[in-house]
Amino acid sequence: MQKTIKDLIEISQYAGNRADYTQGGGGNTSVKNFENGTMLIKASGYRLVDINENTAFVAVDKNKIETYYKSVDLSVEKDYEKESAEVSKTSVVEISGMATLRPSVEVGFHAILKKYVIHTHSVYANLLTCSQEGETLAEKLFAGKDFGFIFLPYINPGFELTLAMMNKIDEYVKATGKYPEVIFMKNHGLVVTGDYIERVKAVNTDVNETIRKYFGLEDNFRSVTLKATETGFVSETPLVNEFVKANVLDKALLDETPLYPDQLVYLNNILAHSPNTLVVDGGKVYYNTDIKQATTLEETLAAYLFVVTTVKKANLTVSKMNEKEVYFINNWEAEKYRRSVK
Ligand SMILES: [Zn+2]
Repeated sequence: MQKTIKDLIEISQYAGNRADYTQGGGGNTSVKNFENGTMLIKASGYRLVDINENTAFVAVDKNKIETYYKSVDLSVEKDYEKESAEVSKTSVVEISGMATLRPSVEVGFHAILKKYVIHTHSVYANLLTCSQEGETLAEKLFAGKDFGFIFLPYINPGFELTLAMMNKIDEYVKATGKYPEVIFMKNHGLVVTGDYIERVKAVNTDVNETIRKYFGLEDNFRSVTLKATETGFVSETPLVNEFVKANVLDKALLDETPLYPDQLVYLNNILAHSPNTLVVDGGKVYYNTDIKQATTLEETLAAYLFVVTTVKKANLTVSKMNEKEVYFINNWEAEKYRRSVK
C-alpha cells in the first residue's frame, strides 16, 4: 500500500504543479494495486498537489467498477448515469485513519485503464482537442512515435465517456495489436496510461512538448501570478493582462465560446451566479475571494485564453461544445458537488 501511495504522490506532483497541465481542481491521477484489487485515485474537489499520505485521495474497489462497465447491457432502458454513480460511491474502500472522501468524477475511466493513469487538462493537448483540425494534426505529429493514441469525440463525462473509451480502446487493440498509451478527448483533455511509472511520465512529457514545439510556443506558462488587493487578488499573469487590454472579457464572450467542462464549471458559472467574484476593470482582472478560489479562477482563465488565442493565431478553427453538451454539464449532479467543494 505504501508504495502505491508513494507512486500516486509522485505522478500527482509531476502533473499537478504546472498550470499548463492542470488548473484548479481539474485533472486526476490514479494507481492500481493489483495485489489487493484496489485503486487509489484523487478525491473530487481537490487539487492534484494536495495529495499526500493522509489526504485528497480515496481507495476504490477497481474490480467492482470495471466489472460493472464490462457487463453493461444498453438494450435495457434505465438511468445509467445514476446507476454508475452509485457503483462508484459503493466501491469506496475505507482506509483506517483516513477520512473517506468522494472519488473523482472521472473514476470510471480510471478503473478500466492500465496501472498508472495521468489525466490532465493540458493546454497543449487542448490546442488539438479544441480545434477542428486537431485530430489530423495529432496523426501527423505522433505518426513516428513508439506509443499509440486514440482520439475520442466529445462525450458527456461520467458513464458515457467511460463506455466510449472502453469500446474505442478495444477497437484499437483489435486493429493494431497494441494498447493505446495516449488518449485525446475532444474538448476536454489528455490521458496517458501504462504499467510503468517512468514511462507514463515520459510519454506525457513527450506529447506535450511535441505539440508545444509544433506551435512554436515558449515554455512560459508554468504558473500564474496573483497580487493581493484589499478585497482579494489581481491578476499579474502576462497572458491574461495582454488579453484583457486588447479585448472585452465578459460573460458573453465565455458563453459564445464554450471549450470544455472546466471552463463552464468554474468561469461561466461564477460570472452567472456570483459576478462580483471576478471583475474586469481598467484592463485588469480582479478576484474578490480567497486565495484558493482566486488561483483556480486565474489558472482556468489563463488556460482558456491561451487555448483560444493560440488556436486562432495558428489559423486553425476553434471547435466548441454544442448547446446540448453545455446543458449536460450545467445540470450534472457530480459537477455541482465538485463546484461546492472549496
Ligand atoms: Zn477531465
